[in-house]
Amino acid sequence: MKDVSAAKFTPDPASLHGDNLTGCFPIDTAFVADTGRMLRAVMIFVDFPNARAEDLEGRYGSFDYYYDALAMEGLEFFKKASFGKMHFTIDRVDKWFRMPKNDNEYHMSRVMKAEDHRNYIAEAVRLTEAEVDYRKYDMLYIVPPKSAVNVPFSPTMCARTTSDIVTSYGARVGLAVTVGQDMHWRRGKLLVHETGHMTGMPDYYTYHPEEGETAFAHCGGWDVMGWIEGRAPDFFGYGKWRYGWFDDDQVEVFTGNGSWEHTLTPIETEKGNKLAVIPIDEHSGYVVESRRGIALDAALEDRQGVLIYYVNGYRGSGDGCLTVCPPQPERYRRLDKDDNEELFGIKEGQVAAFADKARGITVTVLASGAFGDTIRITRGDVH
Ligand SMILES: [Zn+2]
Repeated sequence: MKDVSAAKFTPDPASLHGDNLTGCFPIDTAFVADTGRMLRAVMIFVDFPNARAEDLEGRYGSFDYYYDALAMEGLEFFKKASFGKMHFTIDRVDKWFRMPKNDNEYHMSRVMKAEDHRNYIAEAVRLTEAEVDYRKYDMLYIVPPKSAVNVPFSPTMCARTTSDIVTSYGARVGLAVTVGQDMHWRRGKLLVHETGHMTGMPDYYTYHPEEGETAFAHCGGWDVMGWIEGRAPDFFGYGKWRYGWFDDDQVEVFTGNGSWEHTLTPIETEKGNKLAVIPIDEHSGYVVESRRGIALDAALEDRQGVLIYYVNGYRGSGDGCLTVCPPQPERYRRLDKDDNEELFGIKEGQVAAFADKARGITVTVLASGAFGDTIRITRGDVH
């Protein structure tokens, strides 16, 4: 294996104030599960005195409906994104467990307190622990009925070794998603996004956009960890590398001054060179990858070219830890979720070259086709 350690950006602890999810290396398995291992999850179903499963009509009364929408589609997405390298099963317990309070009494609104979230999970674990052996599982999905309208969204708890939710037989439950009603339109991609968190992926959208920014100003419509419903939901290549789905041999790191030509193959496919990384320092740098409207990104249609983004270890999840660099400099940090016009290329109407003049870095697309893209990277005062 070649030495690509300079491309494995680490988080800057001084800037992150204890944020556990970042876009950097390594993935911290104190808080999340390790995708290098076999992952086992369990899906349980809970209903409420005011939203009872026996009152559900049609398909919403069927466990298959919930499992198929979330788990079957989610597992299929991970299979494609990982090229079959993620080993992941989701068991199910086909029984509705009745939560003691009405759904509105758990305070599961969009902005919820961590304590309320923790208490909902603890209650569900308490109800089910006699029938679910939590020692067998890394992750838990808690699914409510369609009628539980006061559980609207689906946040995740990432506290693998630090959670205080422990069963009577000593199993700690630290990774859990409280699924909400957004499952009905986000389906498997919701499960992928939340499981992404439980395995170390950050949010690429921003929680507190600055003046003039949308929540997607940094990530645009790229990656399921940004806009879940976007046109290009496949993981950024850098994330696939963090997960171990690309190996070090598929990454090239460009340090020092010089001029280099390099060919990249699309990150939607398994083989070939995937990432060209241009470090700025140990915590940040540029990543260049090839994207095509194929596989999970089929909705990109005929868009093709290279995507350039800045991985930023000085920022954490939901705070701009990754910024896509658009061909139009005025759109930097002004992207929106349905744009997907950020590819550099040589087709008519595309911009071929990216420049960070202050740092003396350029990336130019020289050739582009079904194979991928050939680029030239220059750095420093090169003529
Ligand atoms: Zn998220």
